[in-house]
Amino acid sequence: MTLATLAQVLQPALSGRYAVAGLVTLGWEDMRAFVAAAEAEGCPVILQAGPSCRAHTPLPILGKMFRHLAEHASVPVVAHLDHGYTYDECREALDSGFTSLMFDGSRKPLAQNIAETAQIAEMAHAAGISCEGEIGFVGYANGENSAGTDPEEAAKFARETGVDAMAISVGNVHLQQDKEGGLDIARIRAIEALTDVPLVIHGGSGVPVDQRRLLATTSNICKFNIGTELRMAFGAALRTAVNSDPARFDRVTILKETHDPMVAATRQVLRAFAP
Ligand SMILES: [Zn+2]
Repeated sequence: MTLATLAQVLQPALSGRYAVAGLVTLGWEDMRAFVAAAEAEGCPVILQAGPSCRAHTPLPILGKMFRHLAEHASVPVVAHLDHGYTYDECREALDSGFTSLMFDGSRKPLAQNIAETAQIAEMAHAAGISCEGEIGFVGYANGENSAGTDPEEAAKFARETGVDAMAISVGNVHLQQDKEGGLDIARIRAIEALTDVPLVIHGGSGVPVDQRRLLATTSNICKFNIGTELRMAFGAALRTAVNSDPARFDRVTILKETHDPMVAATRQVLRAFAP
């Protein structure tokens, strides 16, 4: 049993100067490959259920899947809710066995974001699990624009909510398909000068690999969320498997062939965050 909370994997990362990957899952095939990759690299991993994952599979099922994988893994595995938007959604994740709740109040005014996030953090801590909040808005490629994190507001947010991890907006953008969007290092330094809460980068797929490595080992960024990059790898592996034999129709036979390419792609992602 290596089920862990977010704080249990991020605090050692903060003191040991490395980062942990928050991997966006969409189903059994990718989550299983993510854990296999983490075991092969000997590092912890955060399995994340975001909005599109939850739209496809109910939270109680995802909780069971994450916990089953954690129970059989040789490395710490966090069962994390990504972008919970309401108290009820976070409550359902807690009741479904998740060990970490991300509440995203980043579209709301500061005072409201603080008040609502503090409530989720209190609920999480009362149950012995963790909470991630977001301050400053991380936008979406071809969608909403970002609003950069103000360092003073970030310090106030960390202090008043009691979160275990804080997602910040420092040039990162969700859903980027290339690795060309560098982060604003000066803003990261200004934030970490005012608070020692572990920092989280959403939209990690868009960050150049060299910068991921640099920040993982020299800053308070302890968690990089990676979604798009590995979803592209899965899509490519699935397409190859489907096209390799037009007569095949059994989906388990086809999906099996995504496993090895996904493990390989994930191991490459994980290596950039190592000490
Ligand atoms: Zn995100």
